[in-house]
Amino acid sequence: MATKRIVIVGGGAAGLALASKLGRKLGGSDVVDVCLIDKSPIHIWKPKLHEVAVGVIDQSIEGLLYRDHGLKNGYRYLRGEIEQCDPDTKTIRLAAVYSDSGELLLEPRQIEYDFLVLALGGVSNSFNTLGAEQHCIFLDSLDNANLFHQKLLDALLQLNETQEKVSIGIVGAGATGVELAAELHHVIESVKEYGYLNISKHHLDVHLIEASPKILPQLPERVSARAQAVLDKIGIRLHIGVQVKEVTRDGFITQDGDMIKASLKVWAAGVKGPKAFQNFSKLPITPRNQVEVDACMRVKGQQDIYAIGDCALLILDSGQPVPPRAQAAAQMADTLYENIVNRLQGKVEKPFVYKDYGSLVSLSRFSAVGNLMGNLRSGTFFVEGHIARLMYISLYQRHLASLYGWFSAIIYRIAQKLLKWQRPKLKLH
Ligand SMILES: Cc1cc2nc3c(=O)[nH]c(=O)nc-3n(C[C@H](O)[C@H](O)[C@H](O)COP(=O)(O)OP(=O)(O)OC[C@H]3O[C@@H](n4cnc5c(N)ncnc54)[C@H](O)[C@@H]3O)c2cc1C
Repeated sequence: MATKRIVIVGGGAAGLALASKLGRKLGGSDVVDVCLIDKSPIHIWKPKLHEVAVGVIDQSIEGLLYRDHGLKNGYRYLRGEIEQCDPDTKTIRLAAVYSDSGELLLEPRQIEYDFLVLALGGVSNSFNTLGAEQHCIFLDSLDNANLFHQKLLDALLQLNETQEKVSIGIVGAGATGVELAAELHHVIESVKEYGYLNISKHHLDVHLIEASPKILPQLPERVSARAQAVLDKIGIRLHIGVQVKEVTRDGFITQDGDMIKASLKVWAAGVKGPKAFQNFSKLPITPRNQVEVDACMRVKGQQDIYAIGDCALLILDSGQPVPPRAQAAAQMADTLYENIVNRLQGKVEKPFVYKDYGSLVSLSRFSAVGNLMGNLRSGTFFVEGHIARLMYISLYQRHLASLYGWFSAIIYRIAQKLLKWQRPKLKLH
């Protein structure tokens, strides 16, 4: 029997979990070749990007190198950025690769597949707001998180000398915006230890701007209210029910014509599918750049192409789409793993069932807030403080377990903690 080539594009919460499980189960055999393609050489779990942005985690400690992980988990890693997909010839095309100085390193490459899994994730959606692309950093990739971090360090350096206030504006008070605002407060409190003696929290204005009538609009009222109380207490300036009409070099112009000044501007609102999908003319791509999939996560009209995670639009029986969340991405990866194994054994594939376990939002190092789903009788229940924080941390632990297995994930976490103990609490370069 010819080897089946399973090509997974995108090594994030969904794609990397799938590649790891398939690689461990089937990799290295003559039956299956599992290949994971990602444009980046390093994986950081996306819900941790705001921590990279403020420097509380260091990618050299927490980042996973696909090449090394693939070797140990039975899949091949290829670095590349998908730019075309042709279901008729069962090929994808990867874009040319250039060095930092612009030299051509690799010509565009064609990759053949038997089964293709698209797991490219999503990007923030500026809703075509004037000036947003030009002036804001979109907190949706590791590169952008690193860019924000560099700009933050530059601002702190200047602030320590001049003591002129720094204003940071964040558009979108969903989990990303709220978590980033809370971390910024923590960072400003911590930098003194590292010789930034002239900086205090009074030198930093963080503006959080939300068009909906409450922060964390997707979450229950009680969770939003509690998070708002915490943000108020630490001095975050909330602009609720305020829509940004235009972004300029100096800040945000609102629908009412007011100006919210900010030297560093972050866009953390909305989610849409990856830009690459705009070229996938033979697949059903929605106006928001997601690809439509059926209940088994198969791209509509295609036998051998699947899509999982934020890039896939899967409408549930309730009529609602699967939400763009890490827990949904992980669940899709689990079901698709079983379906691919079943398919290879000639068994039937099962439809995806989404289980909402609730949501947790981190409010910096010491706290978190959220709602957890109980059973039908008890509905949802509210959690906060240290317990919620521990639960939040356990979500990351579950992600690590899907990549390494439970035992190795625990060892890995302990090793990370020991390394961190030796290093500064904040990444200062
Ligand atoms: C700052 C932040 C905080 C968040 N917090 C939470 C949270 O607390 N809880 C929660 O449930 N969800 C949270 N989310 C959402 C969650 O991270 C996503 O829903 C989840 O990561 C989606 O997984 P995915 O595998 O679909 O995509 P991703 O994890 O985004 O992975 C996509 C991968 O595809 C690669 N890729 C993209 N384009 C290409 C291309 N053209 N070619 C090759 N590779 C490509 C990327 O490099 C990336 O590795 C947060 C998101 C952000 C940005």
